[in-house]
Amino acid sequence: MTAKLIDGKQIAAEIRGEVAKRVGALSERGITPGLATVLVGDDPASRVYVNSKRKMCAEVGIKAWDHDLEASTPQDQLLQLLEELGSDPAVHGILVQLPLPAHIDEELVLEAVPPHKDADGFHPCNLGRVLQGTHLVAPATPAGIQELLIRANIETSGAEVVVAGRSNIVGKPIAAMLFQKAAGANATVTVCHTSTRDLAEHTKRADIVIAAIGRAGAITAPMLKPGAVVIDVGINRTEDGLKGDVDTEAAMEVASAITPVPGGVGPMTIAMLLSNTVTLAERFG
Ligand code: NAP
Repeated sequence: MTAKLIDGKQIAAEIRGEVAKRVGALSERGITPGLATVLVGDDPASRVYVNSKRKMCAEVGIKAWDHDLEASTPQDQLLQLLEELGSDPAVHGILVQLPLPAHIDEELVLEAVPPHKDADGFHPCNLGRVLQGTHLVAPATPAGIQELLIRANIETSGAEVVVAGRSNIVGKPIAAMLFQKAAGANATVTVCHTSTRDLAEHTKRADIVIAAIGRAGAITAPMLKPGAVVIDVGINRTEDGLKGDVDTEAAMEVASAITPVPGGVGPMTIAMLLSNTVTLAERFG
């Protein structure tokens, strides 16, 4: 079997096209959606991510408000900026690029983003709604994964899904989204982590494997059930370039469909961030 590649780049472009149309409809109501992007420090990977988010904003007609702060910026100054952005009517979404420098309390900062401007969906209030299945916006990467599954016509209802990884930004929210009694969900979800006794024992019975571990090639072909769908969230910088968490080449001989790295979940994350921003502008603008 050779797996079908799920083209995240193509699907993300479709979503950006839809977002651009929604921006057009908002402009008829006199609203230009605005996304404030806050980058603290000069981590090169964060800089690349923020720049591409800003570029994509321009492409769909979202006004990007750029805030680049020194790595040494005191926490209070960052909190003050978030308060200002929170009361600025031109700003509908706020994104604080993670990770933050060590002297800044990430949890405190994420809670300082008002829930109605939380474009990344990381505020505990919005994560709580994800758990309830009542969210307006979900964290961008899990939202992108769910959208990929829906648009690639992958049946999730009744499917055995194994999520490898339990971070607050990927593993936990995607698990909570996929077990909801809802369209594009309704799966039986198992979440694995470093204390899971035998990861392969779980992945081998999964119809859908979602790998969000952060270790290149951690999911190998023998760990997959023939015909499984594999969503590779990992972005690992290796000597051979960017690699996912899955040994893609070998997994393609076992799986029925797989997302490539790059060009799978990554572009979806940005597309969903843009969509979230427009959703917030539509609802609260
Ligand atoms: P993270 O915060 O480092 O969490 C990694 C998770 O994987 C943890 O829950 C950890 O378990 C678990 N884990 C590590 N090794 C494992 C193993 N051998 N077996 C089972 N579980 C294992 O990472 P993250 O932020 O969720 O990101 C995961 C990956 O996705 C990274 O490569 C990241 O760069 C990438 N990512 C991509 C996008 C995108 O847009 N494509 C977005 C976000 C993240 P414990 O909890 O027990 O430590």
